[in-house]
This record gives sequence, structure tokens and C-alpha cells, in this order.
Amino acid sequence: MPLTPAVDPSIADLDPARALFIDGSWKPATTTFEVRDPGSGRVIAAVADGSASDARSAVDSAAAAWTSWRSTAPRTRADVLYGAYERMRADLDRLAGLIMSENGKCEADARGEVTYAAEFFRWFAEEAVRPGGAFGESPAGGTRTIVTHRSVGVAALVTPWNFPAAMATRKIAPALAAGCTVVLKPAEETPLTAMAIARLLEEAGAPPGVVNLVPTTDAPTVVSTWLSDSRVRKISFTGSTNVGRILLRQAADRVVNSSMELGGNAPFIVTEDADLDAAVQGALVAKFRNGGQACTAANRFLVHEAVLEDFGARFGAAVETLRTGPASDQRAQIGPVISAGAAARIERVVAEAVQAGARVSHRAPLDPDLTGHFVAPQVLRDVTPDAAIASEEIFGPVAPIIRCSSDEEILTVANQSESGLAAYVYAGDLQRAMRLAEGLEAGMVGINRGLVSDPAAPFGGVKQSGLGREGAREGMLEYTETQYFSVDWPNQG
Ligand code: ADP
Repeated sequence: MPLTPAVDPSIADLDPARALFIDGSWKPATTTFEVRDPGSGRVIAAVADGSASDARSAVDSAAAAWTSWRSTAPRTRADVLYGAYERMRADLDRLAGLIMSENGKCEADARGEVTYAAEFFRWFAEEAVRPGGAFGESPAGGTRTIVTHRSVGVAALVTPWNFPAAMATRKIAPALAAGCTVVLKPAEETPLTAMAIARLLEEAGAPPGVVNLVPTTDAPTVVSTWLSDSRVRKISFTGSTNVGRILLRQAADRVVNSSMELGGNAPFIVTEDADLDAAVQGALVAKFRNGGQACTAANRFLVHEAVLEDFGARFGAAVETLRTGPASDQRAQIGPVISAGAAARIERVVAEAVQAGARVSHRAPLDPDLTGHFVAPQVLRDVTPDAAIASEEIFGPVAPIIRCSSDEEILTVANQSESGLAAYVYAGDLQRAMRLAEGLEAGMVGINRGLVSDPAAPFGGVKQSGLGREGAREGMLEYTETQYFSVDWPNQG
């Protein structure tokens, strides 16, 4: 079945029934699965449903292509990535439309994601030609040490639905820059964007087999087929901590090199000397970008008691003006959440918090005629630090505020989580902000900023938020193994 023309006629050149991209060809599978628009519940495509045998074929193709791709000149690899960047920019409208159709996010978020996603191609096109290394004399003399970074091999990439373009390019671009070939399994909610990305890499000149795509409804089978294959040497996963643990256990069997971007529980800190207007603006971005469906989303607002009322009132007033609606509503700022189950889970978390003594201080109106999976943006006050809502990843447009009375208390509460991905600090005194930032157990800290994602910066978490970094130079090194040569090299007498 082609994509429903009403959704986006310009994506009809992708044939979802032939969504398996293996060895440079688009192939069908024995069955298909439906993809729905979360804003309306409408089916928009029937997508080829990959099997274990398709997964094996994808590795056959990636392994064969690795031999030549790893020895392809870095400049040539960079040109492919830069070509993908240019195509992605040129295709921004079409790609944003595709993301809006299958993920439901509003237009501003979708366009922002495409721009962000394209930047990974540009950044890693630039990094591909800087493989780096080291050369030096050994301390004892008489030998030289040469250090190089070699591509690790076939990389298995597993991505979530919340940023269907950016999570794919954040993995594909550094892998290809390093000389790896890839097999990608997108989330079953959002396989069409992954198809579009594979297509633009094909058009940019990625040789057959360098990029392979296997959409599936049977993620455990496809991914375990990859992890048990001796040719797969790398797993890069973005998703929930629970699934991350499962994949780490599987990776242990063959000691597969693992990068994990897992769940977050970001604290958003406001001290009593913070610029409250800036803090409110930052809070809106940190909480409501992507409707709160981001692992970096502010999950707990830790606010000093001296500015609690003021910040709460200003932030709440701003939240009440947020317009929720489907992606087709051009004035919508908050889209639907991904599924009925996600909406029910968020409503449950809020109800439990209220049961435990919190109150909904502000709530944006929700049009009763909306038919998709919508949750009203809202602010919760009187939340206690140990409430379930402060320890569970909300992944939706709900902002719980916790009262704190000192920087020490703020740090204690912020760090009492097993997660440690992003954190945000708003403080007037920069030294105080830095002291707090250094005290936070988090991989990324926004200081007087509500956004930390940047292709040129190392993205990743501490504690159970993950292993490894994506973006920046570190992101490419994740797809390499360090090799060194010890060279007999007597000093001249
Ligand atoms: P979310 O809750 O955001 O959907 P998940 O961790 O469930 O996060 O999903 C992230 C990715 O992991 C998706 O591509 C999904 O299909 C995949 N996935 C889910 N369960 C498994 C599993 N048991 N093995 C391998 N991949 C999985």
C-alpha cells in the first residue's frame, strides 16, 4: 500500500512495502505492518516486516561492503556524508512532513529535528578526514610507538521513535566516517523516516551494503540475530534503560563493543539569584520541546523556595498558553504523545502524584474534539523529592516542581537518581552555577540554557543513563578500536 496521498503526496516515491534496504536494493518482506499517524490514529503505510533471515542478509551485505569501505579514502567517505547533508537540507520540507506524519510532532519540532539531524552528516564529514593518531619514542628508548584508530567492523544500530531522523544520523554518520558499515533497525512506530535517510545516503553515493535497513515488528529477533553474528562488532542503541540492559547482556556473550544512550531524569535547577525570565524560557524548551518526549527533557524542577512562587506563577502562565494539536494544525506547539498507552501512562503518573499530595497548578486547555493521543501540558506543585513522578521518566508534557532551600539540598535531590543524562542550572552567579554543575552526576549540563544537544558536543550519560558518547570527536571514536604498533627503532649512536 502506498502512503496515503493526503498525508504527504511527495513521499510516494518511497515504497513502504519494499522497506528492506539490503545490498543497495529495496526489497519486500513476506509480511507488512501498519504505521499510524499518532495525531489521528489513521494508518499511513504498510511497511515490509523484516525477519531473522532478512537480518542475516543485511549482515552479509554489510560485511562484504566493509572490506572496501574501510579502505576507501577518508575524503571519499567524507564526500558521501557531505552529500547526504546537502540532500537533507534541500529536502527539509519533505522530511519534516514525513516525521510529522509518523511521529506526530508539530511542524517547528519536525523542522528543528531535520536541521539537527543533517548537522551530524556535516560534522562527521568534517571529522572523517581527521582520523588522528599518535607517534612517539618509548620511555626506554630504542622503540617507537605508533597509535592508530581502526574501524571496528559491522555496526548494529537500534533507534527509538522520538527523534526518528536525528537518532539515525547520530549513529550512521560517525560509523561511516570511521569506516564501518551499518545495519539499522528503526523503531517500528517510525520506519519511514529511516527509509528516507537510507535513500538519501544511496543518492549521495554510499556504495551498496554500506547502509542496510531492516524495519521489523520483531525487534528482539532481528537484534539478537545481529548480536550473535560474529561479523557484528558493535552495537549502538538509543532507547529505554530496560532494553539497554537486555542488549548489554546479549552483547556480553560475544563481548561486543557497546554504546548505550538510555533513559534520563533531568533536574532543572533554579536558584534564588537566577534571571527568572530566562529560566522560564529555558524551562519551556527543556520541558516541552518534542512535547517532553526526549531523554534530555527536564523531568524535575528543583526551585529555591525564595523564588518558588514567582517562578511557578510565570512558568505556569506560559504553560497555559501552549497550544496542543495534531501536526496538521500549524499553530500547534505540542503534538500528540506516541500512543494511547503512552498517554494512559502519563495520566496515571500524574494521578498518582496528585494522590500523594501534589496539585495541578496550571494546565493548558485541550480541545475535546481531538482524536489522537493528546495529553494537556501542565505544571504540578507541592511534589516531594521521593514522589514516583520525580523518579520515573515522564516522557510527556508534565512539569513537577519541587521546593528546595539550599544548594546542598538541590544537589542531594538532583543526584538521588540512578539516571544521569542531562541537567540544567539557572543561576545568576556563574561561579555558583559552575559549582552546582560540577556537583551534578550528569553527562551534560545546560548552564543558563535549556538545550544541550549539539552535534559538535559529546552527548551521553553517567550511571544508568548509558555508556559512551555520540557527536563530537568522541562519537567517531566509538566506532573504532585503538591499535598500536611497537616499532624496533634503535636510537642513532
Ligand atoms: P521506547 O520506550 O522509547 O519505545 P524502547 O527501548 O522500547 O524505547 O525502544 C527503543 C528501540 O529498541 C526500538 O527500536 C525498539 O524496537 C527496540 N527494542 C525494543 N525491545 C527490544 C529488544 N528486546 N531487543 C532489541 N531491540 C528492542
